[in-house]
Amino acid sequence: MAEAGEQENLAHERGQLVRDLLEGKHIIMETDRAAVMKSVKPKAQYHFLVLPKEDIANVTALTRDHLDLLDHMEELANQAVAKYSAFPLSNFLVGFKMNQFMDRLNMHVISNDFYSPLLRGKLQWNNFNTELFLNFDYACAQLCCRGFIEPMPAKKQHELSLSAPIKCNQKGCDFSADNFFAFKPHIGFHWEQRNLQTSEQYAEALEMLEKMQLDNPTGHHRNWRSARQQPGPMIHPAQGKQYWKQRGPSGFQNQPQKLQPKQEDYSAKPQEANGNAPGSQKHTPFKQKKWKPKPKNEKKEQEQEQTASPKAGAQQKEPSATKTVEKPSEKQAES
Ligand SMILES: [Zn+2]
Repeated sequence: MAEAGEQENLAHERGQLVRDLLEGKHIIMETDRAAVMKSVKPKAQYHFLVLPKEDIANVTALTRDHLDLLDHMEELANQAVAKYSAFPLSNFLVGFKMNQFMDRLNMHVISNDFYSPLLRGKLQWNNFNTELFLNFDYACAQLCCRGFIEPMPAKKQHELSLSAPIKCNQKGCDFSADNFFAFKPHIGFHWEQRNLQTSEQYAEALEMLEKMQLDNPTGHHRNWRSARQQPGPMIHPAQGKQYWKQRGPSGFQNQPQKLQPKQEDYSAKPQEANGNAPGSQKHTPFKQKKWKPKPKNEKKEQEQEQTASPKAGAQQKEPSATKTVEKPSEKQAES
């Protein structure tokens, strides 16, 4: 009886994608032939699934007649990457699992960082980084030449899923580990490198923008900036090792760490100028008032309030004097 219940549960689990498709859940793009979903258990920063509406069981059920449908699915995948990720297409793996568990054929479109708290074991890594993952182009080539895709024997599937050592997938890196928990921090290492590179490029771009703002006030830089505001990564890698926690998701959403000193400089300037240049401090009077411990003498408090409030009022009426300071703080708010 217990076994029958287990079978039922498995069957239910296998049918989840089809139910989601019929109910329109997690769908970000759809045509009459296929749909793109966000994976509910992403194994990387970006993980999409492209499902055909035709009831095709898995990759081995494809025939030459499906090549046109596959073209269409690939086109959708390209659009999803362009629209919903901050990475170029070259950072994605596109293909099928040879050991697919779910009922409906589903094409994975997954970023190659594999930086996700939901990537928890060797099997999941090997699913995407061994022969268990059939590259889209290779699948199409097989269909073109032979007209079918040969199923992988269960024994080979089993061996590959447990195969060791686990090898790094990043270009020029030959790191490997026998144990997934020894390997996982290495994924974080590459992620950090990538973020570092991004923040350096971002800092350089901002510097260029600053110059542009001075030389060319045409507003073109605004288009540039809004183009950077892509939808963020789907998950927040909040679990795992300590340094994973310290890091936010990448891309241009989160302020790159390298820029933080710059921001502090901007906010520090008005404080330094406090008293010397009355027009230049914007936030300081408000903050001082808020953080101050309660004075015992009420009269003193009233006097201080009286001296503080005209200052604040005067600053609000002096937009021209604060102009140079405002620009950096606007940037803080935008980023
Ligand atoms: Zn590596």
